[in-house]
Amino acid sequence: MPTEQQQRMAEAVAQIKENMAKAARAAGRRPEEVVLCAASKTQTVETVRASAVLPIDLFGENHVQELVRNADAGAYLGKPAHLIGHLQTNKIKKVLGRAALIQSVDSLRLLATLEKEAAKLNLTQAVLLEVNVGGEDSKTGLPEAELPRLLEAAAGMPHIRVEGLMTIAPLDVEPAETHRCFARLRELDAAAGAQHIPNLPMGTLSMGMSGDYAAAIAEGATIVRIGTAIYGARDYSRPPKH
Ligand SMILES: *Cc1c(COP(=O)(O)O)cnc(C)c1O
Repeated sequence: MPTEQQQRMAEAVAQIKENMAKAARAAGRRPEEVVLCAASKTQTVETVRASAVLPIDLFGENHVQELVRNADAGAYLGKPAHLIGHLQTNKIKKVLGRAALIQSVDSLRLLATLEKEAAKLNLTQAVLLEVNVGGEDSKTGLPEAELPRLLEAAAGMPHIRVEGLMTIAPLDVEPAETHRCFARLRELDAAAGAQHIPNLPMGTLSMGMSGDYAAAIAEGATIVRIGTAIYGARDYSRPPKH
């Protein structure tokens, strides 16, 4: 790990933390209400480990194999790791008990399979439901209209705890539209939480990335997921090491 890269990451994280606190205060919120999730996809074990000493609260991985690799290498330095990318049902066993939170549950089938496998291991898996509140523009997450069906199903799953919602706002839209998406996610979460279902505590809102985290915090984000602003532009051409 060149010290120059280490220095750059340290400065970037300090700046992000300052921006996060500023956005929280501007919205009448306390800075402690929002945690920083480092989106570490495509980074090496060494880079992940070097970033873990910085004031990052937790890590978000898109790929199960990267989560397993980094966790096994101790690269998170004991900080929690979440899954933030699409989860295939055949990889569920690898993440159960390993991901403190699966943020990207986007189908009834996935939810039902998680319940079945968590029951076998006698554990309760915390999840967020990923909702596509941006409409056609964003490709991931369940359509808003399907959310009630998943919440209803989850209410009857004793090994699942739905802690809230996650979204990816569409890119390249007007700031007003970005704000609208984030505000909508907060409304959906609040409506679900108001039902007071024991294993659906809700209240966690994972929204906001490098380009829009200030807007997300203004609209109530409790987790922001930031990659590029910490690590720089991703290099997808480099084969993963280890
Ligand atoms: C890559 C990724 C992020 C971070 O995106 P940046 O624009 O690099 O900050 C956040 N959330 C998810 C789900 C991602 O895949």
